[in-house]
Amino acid sequence: MSGDKKVPIRSCVSCRVHSEKKSLIRIVRSPDGQVRMDPTGKAPGRGAYLCGAKECIAQAIKKNKLGRALRCEVPESLKTELIRLTSEEGAAMATGNAQ
Ligand SMILES: [Zn+2]
Repeated sequence: MSGDKKVPIRSCVSCRVHSEKKSLIRIVRSPDGQVRMDPTGKAPGRGAYLCGAKECIAQAIKKNKLGRALRCEVPESLKTELIRLTSEEGAAMATGNAQ
């Protein structure tokens, strides 16, 4: 028996934590220059990954880590989409924000 299941591993552009590709959010810059989320993980183009943590996404946007990883500008619409994605999750498991 050979346990040669290859799981693709990618790292979050923000926290650099390595995870399975399928558990990360993929952002792709397609060959025509469009930047968008890629739920399939198969879209052609340059990809950047986010682990999905609210803080990571916030940092990736604020510090333009996503833009740097993709070497292009991240459209506002995509930023909004990402923030909404995390705030929905955050609302579901709000545990207090004392910091
Ligand atoms: Zn992260």
